[in-house]
Amino acid sequence: MNNTRILKVELGARSYPIRIGRSIAGLDTAFPESAGRSLRVVTDSNVEPLYLEALLGALSLTRDQVYVVPAGEASKTWDSAGKVLDWLLESRLSRDGCLIALGGGVIGDLTGFVASIYQRGIDFIQIPTTLLAQVDSSVGGKTGVNHARGKNLIGAFHQPISVVADTDTLATLPKRELLAGLAEVIKYGMLADGLLFEWLESNLDRILSLNPNSLAEIIERCCAIKARIVGLDERETGSGPRALLNLGHTFGHAIETYTGYTEWLHGEAVATGLVLAADLSARHGWITEAVAARCTALIARAGLPVAPPKGMTAEHFRDLMGLDKKVKAGKLRLILLRGLGDAVLSSDFEQDLLDETLAAACRTTS
Ligand code: NAD
Ligand code: ZN
Repeated sequence: MNNTRILKVELGARSYPIRIGRSIAGLDTAFPESAGRSLRVVTDSNVEPLYLEALLGALSLTRDQVYVVPAGEASKTWDSAGKVLDWLLESRLSRDGCLIALGGGVIGDLTGFVASIYQRGIDFIQIPTTLLAQVDSSVGGKTGVNHARGKNLIGAFHQPISVVADTDTLATLPKRELLAGLAEVIKYGMLADGLLFEWLESNLDRILSLNPNSLAEIIERCCAIKARIVGLDERETGSGPRALLNLGHTFGHAIETYTGYTEWLHGEAVATGLVLAADLSARHGWITEAVAARCTALIARAGLPVAPPKGMTAEHFRDLMGLDKKVKAGKLRLILLRGLGDAVLSSDFEQDLLDETLAAACRTTS
């Protein structure tokens, strides 16, 4: 890979590198962790025609070492995991073998989950090909599949042995998927890195035009934040810092549930969730209205939604947020801002102010 930037997730014996660079064809040097290992690749039907050949060439692999699942969230199921496990057993991958996840968050979560249970757990490598996966899902070891009763309900913590993010793969990503990933990037700036937020304000156009250095810059800065937080709180225990990564997500999940997980992409729902979290923080006087307005303005400039879907009311939000996992002992806990780049998990927010935020947001769309 060219001009590779390297970070490390520090987790003792489970520590691993994140390499960020260009040109997937140079992958033979990009992860020494795979050398001499028996490898199997899992990818999806969209990524296969784009990047599989280059990967197979770089690692001298053949087609029979590849399993392709249909692209999309519908493949993140127990059933798909079972099919991949069947295939691994048929192809006699041994315990010292290693899986490679080539694709977006769906492939990373599915492959990581399979790796966590195949023969009681084998190694896996993440090659994320969406912006969301490069800045978020490929790092941190959360793996899993969905269940009819909800998203990500079946899973395991299983860290990869390395992550290789190739910014060139983003060139083929549909614009809407790129922007959904950008919402998570803005989230990182808002929750942990005010300078990243300012950098985004100044360099948004370079990101939208896929400038490779700018892409590498944001991926590195986001991964650095995630690596640090995961290093402090690998398993998201109680009110540990990992919960802060969910800034905007309680509102966002309500929107995703309301829209049935089909109309809005996750990142789009999170974008509006970030706007609401900033608004509520400003109503408490924890950040200024000017800071909240900057958050909304950046999200809008990125082409992301800043208001809930048409027809969604404050009542809908209250109902759907009541079901959220951040409800502990009957009290809703929200991640809010005490400053730009300074998020806190708060259970002492004012219910009246939350109602004001929801009423104002829903008024703008009805
Ligand atoms: P995805 O994997 O479905 O990818 C989005 C779409 O882009 C798919 O159609 C895919 O085929 C296509 N695609 C992927 N790379 C491409 C490329 N380079 N060029 C063209 N098309 C490409 O979705 P995602 O947004 O990457 O990930 C979402 C998933 O990640 C969800 O299941 C979510 O639950 C999970 N997630 C996990 C974590 C975690 O910590 N494990 C964190 C956030 C999200
Ligand atoms: Zn998210």
